[in-house]
Amino acid sequence: MNPWPRQYDVRKVHMGRASEGADLLNMLNEVCREREIRAGAVSLVGAVSCAVLMYYRQETKRYETLPEITQGMEIIAGTGNVSLKDGAPFVHLHLLLADEQGQTVAGHLAEGTIVFACEYTITELDGPALERAHDGDTGLYLWRG
Ligand code: ZN
Repeated sequence: MNPWPRQYDVRKVHMGRASEGADLLNMLNEVCREREIRAGAVSLVGAVSCAVLMYYRQETKRYETLPEITQGMEIIAGTGNVSLKDGAPFVHLHLLLADEQGQTVAGHLAEGTIVFACEYTITELDGPALERAHDGDTGLYLWRG
């Protein structure tokens, strides 16, 4: 039987503001670990002063770093989820950023993305454990069925 989708109830919605200078990914992971959020959805808006985004190359099954973004950018959208990896809360987030021309760049959020301003919403969910495990077909750490 297909184990997906699983059903969850909303336990709590956490709304927060990140400080200027914070590392976006580390900050989100810390919030989830402190609050013991084991399953959830993340969305955010704001701005970054620089960013490191990744792209997963399917042929090589490796993440590649996109050219580093060294200027301030708007966060048009940040969307992702929280689940468990190695027993600890783990945030997986994708970002869509725009420059002063409205030109966009997007990718998988990596450490080294620094907040200028950020408002985030983490919707904590109640339900079955959502754990990541290595998937041989894709090379990714996907939710275990
Ligand atoms: Zn990703």
